[in-house]
Amino acid sequence: MSKTYRGPGSAYGIHRVINPKGVLPQPAEQLDASPHIFDNELLVDVDILNIDSASFTQIISEVGKDPGAIAGRIRKITADRGKMQNPVTGSGGMFIGRVREVGPDFPDQDLEPGDRIASLVSLSLTPLRIEAVLGVNVDNDQVEIRGTAVLFASGLYARLPVDIPQALALSVLDVAGAPAQTAKMVGNGDTVLVVGGGGKSGLLCLHEARKHAGSGGNIIALDYSDESIERIRGCGLADHIIQADASDALDVMEKVSEATDGRMADLVINSVNIPGTEMACILSTRDRGRVYFFSMATSFTRAALGAEGVGKDVEMIIGNGYTRGHAETALNILRENREIRELYTRLFA
Ligand code: NAP
Repeated sequence: MSKTYRGPGSAYGIHRVINPKGVLPQPAEQLDASPHIFDNELLVDVDILNIDSASFTQIISEVGKDPGAIAGRIRKITADRGKMQNPVTGSGGMFIGRVREVGPDFPDQDLEPGDRIASLVSLSLTPLRIEAVLGVNVDNDQVEIRGTAVLFASGLYARLPVDIPQALALSVLDVAGAPAQTAKMVGNGDTVLVVGGGGKSGLLCLHEARKHAGSGGNIIALDYSDESIERIRGCGLADHIIQADASDALDVMEKVSEATDGRMADLVINSVNIPGTEMACILSTRDRGRVYFFSMATSFTRAALGAEGVGKDVEMIIGNGYTRGHAETALNILRENREIRELYTRLFA
């Protein structure tokens, strides 16, 4: 029996927006998450959500580290909004699942029911229905669920590789934009500072920075806790390791000045998961250098007015989660770097 579809949908999913009408799914308050798909959509049975770090940290600050309370909050947000978009941070995450149905006008007709994929568009715009939360892992921000998600015709995804376990793949795909952008921005001999360098995206950025800056480059990693500093040390990618609080801008600036003989960094990558770190990055960048704000806790206002306030002529880049080839770049790090693969397997898989 042939399936019935709900008719043609917009490539960007505007047809799924319940309110306010006329906006795109990401800024929308509420989406229709019905598993009855339109002709150009993909329906996926979801089994793991990887909640964005800024969002997961915010939920814990609100309800504590109790898995039941975290599950309750995630269910409530998703039921209210039809998507897992944290109303405080605005951020989402991504999912892993198995294709259930490919709409007849979905662009990739090579996908088949049963294929395992990871979404590469944010949960903050992905129609999601959760039937049950089966487990919450407070150590890796991953939540096991039974539910369905819909990808629009414009939705990005990756087929899961066969040589990398899925929880491991998911952990790097979630932050794939950061190392891929780093690879594109770092030049031979550059001085690169990664703020939050011991975190999930931070270590991947360190790998790409080291690779592209070469032995003449100066790679500096900054983080806060002893555990993060230990992780950085274990990977052996940084020439200098700074232990500091990234919200203390002047202290960070002084320490970066020491590590660079006063020249400061050509490129600063911000991959922390807390607010209030814009100025540390801006002050650590050389004149006409670049700051790449990957962190979702970045404030445009604080960055723009802050740079102006201290008279810093620096280029500031918003961390687009997507750049061409980002999934392959991130997965390749697991193939190229044994230390990172072992560490991520221990932490996330
Ligand atoms: P993560 O693994 O939690 O890493 C964050 C790092 O920041 C940790 O190493 C943490 O260190 C460090 N940190 C926290 N407070 C600090 C402080 N005061 N001073 C110095 N370092 C501090 O997070 P992630 O998964 O890599 O994500 C990083 C950021 O990227 C988050 O804001 C996330 O929302 C964002 N993100 C953006 C996109 C995008 O598309 N732009 C996509 C995914 C994620 P400690 O453990 O020592 O506290």
